Amino acid sequence: MSPLKTVSALADAGLIPAERAGALEPVAARYAVALTDTVARLIDRGDPNDPIARQYIPSEAELRATPEERSDPIGDAAHSPVPGIVHRHADRVLFKLVHNCPVYCRFCFRREMVGPDSESALLPDVFANAVAYIEGHPEIWEVIVTGGDPFSLSARRIGEVAAHLAAIPHVKIVRWHTRLPVVDPARINDEFVASLLTPGVTTIVALHANHPRELTAAARAACARLIDAGIPMLSQSVLLKGVNDDVKTLEALMRTFVEARVKPYYLHHADLAPGTSHFRVSIEEGLTLMGALRARLSGLCVPQYVLDIPGGVAKVRLTSTDVEKTATGWRIRDPDGNWHAYPAGLRPLS
Ligand code: SF4
Repeated sequence: MSPLKTVSALADAGLIPAERAGALEPVAARYAVALTDTVARLIDRGDPNDPIARQYIPSEAELRATPEERSDPIGDAAHSPVPGIVHRHADRVLFKLVHNCPVYCRFCFRREMVGPDSESALLPDVFANAVAYIEGHPEIWEVIVTGGDPFSLSARRIGEVAAHLAAIPHVKIVRWHTRLPVVDPARINDEFVASLLTPGVTTIVALHANHPRELTAAARAACARLIDAGIPMLSQSVLLKGVNDDVKTLEALMRTFVEARVKPYYLHHADLAPGTSHFRVSIEEGLTLMGALRARLSGLCVPQYVLDIPGGVAKVRLTSTDVEKTATGWRIRDPDGNWHAYPAGLRPLS
């Protein structure tokens, strides 16, 4: 099958009706499109509301921007001391190694920064500068390698990056965030797994999946190859309208993660990324769903429900004691005890 990176390729593959192609061209011109063959095979072409299609097939709704949306919804830029690094918390950094992905999720919070038109990986001098920043900050204990999807790199390059990080004495944890075991599980072969394992650091993989159907037998086998090699795995999911915003689906997703030996870690409240309002669930609904999950599931299966306060303020674990309804929306308490309006207006309220 030809790469599924254009509207016409999606139409040729029967993933969108040909008559919708014209309306979707402006969407694809604005936000990158890509599906792997694995994802295309998972899509139920007979279901107009298929939760897999909804995550990856462009929609006209993406051209609707709302006033609270922003191109950098979690405020990476405000905490980026050098290109490629986001240093928001003292003991850890994000290392944004690549700008592209094997798939482009329609709700992506970095959708303005990722895509095939971006430089695929950091240029050598930018990479060296980012590594030098980590070396120069002994308080950095954990490096979270992200992007884009860093697993889109070759095994050889992954091994080089892992070796650079392992050579920094104060870096003890390297956590890779990826969708690859779900969207292209065959890439997680023995050579790839071996490239991640570098003496001197603990390697962790955080898997992004949002619906239990994404955790196919092949995806679970890819996770098993990582875990059997000694790599602990965590999950991260986004709470998405029409994908997983019901307790039955979330319950199945979390149970499937645990059965695959992937510890449920984060359930993200969807960020205020441009053109994604059709995916957003209210905080009230999110809290209700989390209460239902807690009532039905062993603690082993319950993720933390988290929200990034816009502007790079903080990631907050959403519980009923840290959010309050206001006349115009919500206010949310950050870990320092300051309240912030959400989503309208971003000034601390007290
Ligand atoms: S794989 Fe991650 S970075 Fe890439 S488009 Fe999806 S959510 Fe965004």
